[in-house]
Amino acid sequence: MKKTATKATAKQPATKYIFVVGGVMSGVGKGITSSSIACVLQARGLKVTAMKIDPYINVDAGTMNPTEHGEVFVLKDGLETDQDMGNYERFLNADMPSINYMTTGSVYQSVIEKERNLEYGGRNVEVVPDIPLEVIRRIKQAAHVAAADVVLIEVGGTVGEYQNVLFLEAIRMMKTEQPENVAVVMVSYLPVPTAIGEMKTKPTQTAVRMLNSAGVFADMIICRSSVPVDQKRKEKVATFCNVRVENVISSPDLQSIYDIPLNYEEDNLSSQLLTILCLKSKKPTDLKAWKQFVKQSKNGVDTVKIAVVGKYFNSGDFVLSDVYISVLEAIKFSAYKLNLKPEITYLSSQDLADRKQLKKLNAFDGILVPGGFGTTGIEGKLNVIEYARKQEIPYFGICYGMQLMVLEFAKHVLRLKNASTEEIDPTASHLVIGIMPEQREKIAKREMGGSMRLGQYPAKLKSGSVAAKAYKATEVLERHRHRYEVNPDYIERLKAAGLRFSGASPDGTLMEIAELPVEEHPFFVGVQFHPELQARPLAPHPLFTAFIKAAYESK
Ligand code: GLN
Repeated sequence: MKKTATKATAKQPATKYIFVVGGVMSGVGKGITSSSIACVLQARGLKVTAMKIDPYINVDAGTMNPTEHGEVFVLKDGLETDQDMGNYERFLNADMPSINYMTTGSVYQSVIEKERNLEYGGRNVEVVPDIPLEVIRRIKQAAHVAAADVVLIEVGGTVGEYQNVLFLEAIRMMKTEQPENVAVVMVSYLPVPTAIGEMKTKPTQTAVRMLNSAGVFADMIICRSSVPVDQKRKEKVATFCNVRVENVISSPDLQSIYDIPLNYEEDNLSSQLLTILCLKSKKPTDLKAWKQFVKQSKNGVDTVKIAVVGKYFNSGDFVLSDVYISVLEAIKFSAYKLNLKPEITYLSSQDLADRKQLKKLNAFDGILVPGGFGTTGIEGKLNVIEYARKQEIPYFGICYGMQLMVLEFAKHVLRLKNASTEEIDPTASHLVIGIMPEQREKIAKREMGGSMRLGQYPAKLKSGSVAAKAYKATEVLERHRHRYEVNPDYIERLKAAGLRFSGASPDGTLMEIAELPVEEHPFFVGVQFHPELQARPLAPHPLFTAFIKAAYESK
């Protein structure tokens, strides 16, 4: 193992690595915990980057059904990742590069490629150590790319699962290699069973033992619970789980996830981590901007009611909102910026195929149709868009929501009977939305994974348009994830009928933004890209802000 990359020199202190693992059960907010730790360390003036390791065989998150896995978050350089990468970007207010995300599948893929390229010099390539070594190589590479003082690595899954054993092995190997530079944080859950009324620590003790059996020892335990962890239980956890009591952090359920970094600092989390890692702080915790944002998020008196119409909300008896998490957060950031209280309602597009249901849209100040794929719920979405256009309810369409907005316009304003998108009905006589030429070849060859038009691309905006006014710019960079586009053969006809294409790729071929002028509609804008992926608490997205503002004003 090469040691040079991480060795401290006189000028440059060694990079520190914090691994975050989960105990007891999933779904306790390990991603938000990791993001919040990163946030408070950044507030100490340190350069922090955050990574996620996902245990599944999928090479990236792009091929997974959102109802199984939640939102697919697209990084600037185009990798399709887990939604936690979005949390890191939001909490750190920074773009994460694709080296910061890996899955079991992608790690095995690299190792097998290297083996095929004879990079192992003819030796036996084995699961251990070669898989953990590739994990470690990537972690160090991420540290190098970010020139990070601290790298935070969240290990997906829960200790005790067969799936993440090799990642625990990577932690063990790194800790042996450089014990002073590696810290392990376990995020646990302390239930308070209603029948007992007392907070129980035993599941955490068991989880710690499982972690220890993999040769990994926790330096800090973050105790998630419905209520704060009292001193008595902190002491119990410390004694039975082998950590110092000051490294047992209480992490109760809070009103908002954005309160968490502030709550951590009440338990001196950043100072404790710096002590564990023998790392000097560059300044006292400075969370001024964050506090200001949190304060403003609670200031709003007037509400703005937004309906998000999607097809992925229903899952058995439960409603999933994780699928559109970046969209929901983007709405909130812009509402907060405008001192408004957002009230977001999830409407299932399948239900809105019944036109009688459309009247319920009158209760909302704005309607948003987010990205999506395939046929399910299309009729409902088209109905909603037509209703929003005719009733002059502010409408914001994202990706599929823009394509369907153009299709609705073609059907009802241009009166193109039997118009469709090639994604749904390739035999329709008017394919107003068509497949991008390079995508046609990929689909023919079944090259489906990671092959859409992905990541950041520039768009040129028409000055004076709704979009350009919102951005206060005429050139923007936005992230994409699509295979279809507005069919160039229909652009002139759509324009002649009154639809404006206010943003396009720099060569003018690909329509990036469609809108109606303000004289005709308070806000009717669709974008081919995903602005939600770049909306941040400390930097709300200008298009979302314009949409929310129009929604509030047209109340
Ligand atoms: N299904 C559409 C396409 O592939 C839209 C994708 C999306 O909304 N992300 O072009």
